[in-house]
Amino acid sequence: KPGPDPAARHDQDRLLGGLLSPAFDEQSCRSRYESSSLYRHPSPFRPSTYLVERLRRYEARHRRCGPGTPLFKQAVEHLRSRRNTGGSECQYVIWTPINGLGNRMLSLASTFLYALLTDRVLLVHALQEFDGLFCEPFPGSSWKLPVDDDFPITVTDFAGVFTMGSPASYKNMRQAGAISSDHRNVTAEGLPAYVFLDLIQSFTDAAFCDDDQRVLAKFNWMVLKSDVYFAAMLFLMPAYEHELARLFPEKEAVFHHLARYLFHPSNDVWGIVRRYHGAYLARADERVGLQVRVFPEMPVPFENMHAQIARCSEQEGLLPKVVVRDKSGAGAANHSSSSAMASGRSNSNKLTSILVTSLFSDYYERIRGVYYASATETGEYVEVHQPSHEREQHTEARVHNQRALAEMYLLSTCDRIVTTAVSTFGYIAHGLAGVRPWVLLRPPSPGATVDPACVRSKTVEPCLQAPPRRICGVAEGTDTGALVPYARHCEDVHRGLKLF
Ligand code: GDP
Repeated sequence: KPGPDPAARHDQDRLLGGLLSPAFDEQSCRSRYESSSLYRHPSPFRPSTYLVERLRRYEARHRRCGPGTPLFKQAVEHLRSRRNTGGSECQYVIWTPINGLGNRMLSLASTFLYALLTDRVLLVHALQEFDGLFCEPFPGSSWKLPVDDDFPITVTDFAGVFTMGSPASYKNMRQAGAISSDHRNVTAEGLPAYVFLDLIQSFTDAAFCDDDQRVLAKFNWMVLKSDVYFAAMLFLMPAYEHELARLFPEKEAVFHHLARYLFHPSNDVWGIVRRYHGAYLARADERVGLQVRVFPEMPVPFENMHAQIARCSEQEGLLPKVVVRDKSGAGAANHSSSSAMASGRSNSNKLTSILVTSLFSDYYERIRGVYYASATETGEYVEVHQPSHEREQHTEARVHNQRALAEMYLLSTCDRIVTTAVSTFGYIAHGLAGVRPWVLLRPPSPGATVDPACVRSKTVEPCLQAPPRRICGVAEGTDTGALVPYARHCEDVHRGLKLF
């Protein structure tokens, strides 16, 4: 029996199993078609045919309702007249950014899933620093909200109005009696022109009850602000259970598919990834990614963090071990084993690349120094690289964000990935890769030692670090990690939730 047509299979691989639409101009966004070739191993997950079908349907709706269309103009007119209307063909959710790039990508992917589930069109309120990062994800249209002088919600509104106290926030509207909590008493015509859904860490709007969603569904315009992976919460809601089970039969791959569908680095960012990968990583037989994030609010001292990395490596066999010399052989003590000498040099042709990403260069320098001074036990060669050391986070600067995005992608090409607890930057890297990371656990206080130094994550999914304290229909005090069989607490944030 002849095998599948090779051309069709090639197309399937190039389009990530149908996840990506073929209706794009390749040159405008090279990463869309080239990223799969950067990974030595194909993705372990395949999108369901239902997800593929829903994405094509979403794209058609976005083309019909997106910026520049008559339906969009009509919807903007309603917004301007401050009137909501019933029976609108197009409804919108405007995502607005907050916090670092990792947080932003988690919340944007979540907002897209929310748009899929609620039949809304996703628009991005792109600040200037967000420009130049990603390609347009939807063919024949744009996801950018055209915030010109004509748009009724102004740039100043976006900068100032959408905060916890906003009178437009769903919860505040309810508290002020502007809308009833019983959806049967709410008519679309009686509502304001838009609603603000505040899903920032604090979850001002604990709007995850099916009843809330029925009310929210009547607003044609919604502005959503979040810095967390609230997609995980949607899996706890009975209303979406059936649909989500069809979209994502493998819960572990929710973010993986969403991110590979949505986030395609712009040609500028892709240029950085391609050049760096070609020069420093492509030739290696094995690549180990090490992401060291030192949070300003949790300033773990360098020696502690470095010792933790070494313990993690030793415990899990991650970085190649070096031969320990006699007592005078100082400098070889790290990442070393006292047991073995360079016995069988069976791996003498093997090359391992260690990719370090961090805002600081000292981890890279120390680790590189170890392999410079000592041979590895197996005789394999080790190179150590770090693309940049920016020292400080500058989310407002476009080039800084481009580098951060490039580094997330570079990390995601590694065969093994070690990340720092609580870092959303790390979540993105292993989520894109579809790889379960080793997580360097957070010590109880900056100077303390944590044991074990790291654990292997049970899933490639990111963690929703701060789920709402109260979940609809669930008695207070109930363990949120035991509500459904496919959501558990996270390894790095015990209160958090992740899918697996
Ligand atoms: P989190 O704070 O670790 O959860 O990750 P975020 O991505 O939300 O915010 C951290 C920001 O700091 C990143 O977006 C970058 O701007 C910067 N940053 C942190 N670590 C690195 C790194 O290893 N490389 C680069 N280039 N930037 C980093």
